[in-house]
Amino acid sequence: AGLLPFEHEPYHRFSDPAVADAQRAAFRQVRETHVGRTFPLIIGGQEEQGSGTTDVVNPADTREVVWRFQNATPEQLERAVQAAQAAFEDWRFSDPLQRASIFKRAADLLRARRLEFNAVMTLENGKNWAEADGEVAESVDHFEVFARETLRWAQGKPVYPMPDEHVTMHYEPLGVVACISPWNFPSAIPLGMALGAIAAGNTVLWKPAPETPLSSYLMVELLFQAGLPRNVIQFLTGTNDVLGDPLVDHPGVRMIAFTGSRAVGCRIYERAAKVQPGQKWLKRVIAEMGGKDPTVVCADADIDAAALGIVQAAFGYSGQKCSACSRVIAEASIHDELLEKVTALTRTLKGGLPEDNADLGPVIHERSAARIMDMLAADHGSARLVLGGDQQDTGERTGGYVSPTILADVDPRDPLFQEEIFGPVLTFTRADSWEHAIALANDSDYGLTASFYSRDPAKIAAARQRLHVGNLYINRKCTGALSGTHAFGGYGMSGTNAKVGGPDYLFWFLQTKTVAQRY
Ligand code: GLU
Repeated sequence: AGLLPFEHEPYHRFSDPAVADAQRAAFRQVRETHVGRTFPLIIGGQEEQGSGTTDVVNPADTREVVWRFQNATPEQLERAVQAAQAAFEDWRFSDPLQRASIFKRAADLLRARRLEFNAVMTLENGKNWAEADGEVAESVDHFEVFARETLRWAQGKPVYPMPDEHVTMHYEPLGVVACISPWNFPSAIPLGMALGAIAAGNTVLWKPAPETPLSSYLMVELLFQAGLPRNVIQFLTGTNDVLGDPLVDHPGVRMIAFTGSRAVGCRIYERAAKVQPGQKWLKRVIAEMGGKDPTVVCADADIDAAALGIVQAAFGYSGQKCSACSRVIAEASIHDELLEKVTALTRTLKGGLPEDNADLGPVIHERSAARIMDMLAADHGSARLVLGGDQQDTGERTGGYVSPTILADVDPRDPLFQEEIFGPVLTFTRADSWEHAIALANDSDYGLTASFYSRDPAKIAAARQRLHVGNLYINRKCTGALSGTHAFGGYGMSGTNAKVGGPDYLFWFLQTKTVAQRY
């Protein structure tokens, strides 16, 4: 059976003044209806207060508290796990078609509210309109894709038959899945993980990043509105001492789906390996972590296309994507021309407020900006600064506005070449040949995305085999994976390669039962 046809959600065209006006109106509406409010926890379908609240600030001007979220207590974590376990006893037997219908309905509800969701995201994580719009469109796609995947996985898989036994192999859910998500994709990433869990018949403990809880909360509400039983997701916000290790260590948690930093991912992987008293399973962990994503440009490549792809992938959302291009590796003969073109294009990017749709907004925290500045300030040997290296002047506003930064002649042993920076910093390194360029690209602990630019079919064929990454893009930028099409996840220290949005993703959330029956 083929896959049911599905079209990716188109992006808004903000160059159309009417669409831009509608986006501005959505900001005004969100400022009226959401800013200043305090949002609850959701446990067993009920809204609850915690013990105190955490402020969520606008990264574009950190003086502005946009909304507040509750701090869950240890007792609430305990009850949330119990509520998720209790809900699992029903939800595990729910009809796959019911689950798929809920996701289809949620897709429709979200389509009608995209601009509002964009505005919320911009106010809490500093994405400009186009970046927020891309992510909310991806969230619609996730609903459509997971609706289809629910039904596909419900069919089980064929096995070789025997004459006197009826044998089936099908999939069953695991239990309670903790979904722990980052601030850089606050709707699409937690949604992808939670839909994976729910589609498979599991129940969820949803813990969003403290910086960006409202983008998550609105998704949870939307799912309830679409008909998801309210006890299937427990929505928990709060502090790390309650929702960090204690959540990961809890013996009632069957699986952890994590996306975030390498340090936290490794910590979760290690802690989850320990069998706690009362725990009756080995916890499953999927973890998507960092990247140090290269773009290789061969001498025969279309240099203009490469320059544009590099600038978009390096500086979109100020480089705060694990898929962001952070290392350009160019053959020596075209290196200088490429560097000039990339620098010229980068100079045209306008810094400013994401709410005004500036090309380059703030990084998430002032302390992230300080960390990036410290990293740049260290001795980088042969490296030379070509552009940026400082912070944008923002007048009154407080926020971490790092200028787009380009460094050339960066040595492969330099931390700038090896460590994830998670900011608008791009390095250039010369390669002696295209084979050398591939070797340099692979000189990394990570292996998430890579771009390869060439017109030569033989070089492309070699790159397809040899570049050690989970997402390889030929003659295009390395960001912007589309759900259902570009299954996303990396090699090496980029994580467990669970491949969200791909045809194997649900397998991670399931266990397999073989039933052999004699009549
Ligand atoms: N899926 C996103 C992309 O392809 C990146 C997700 C991330 O940065 O965590 O650009």
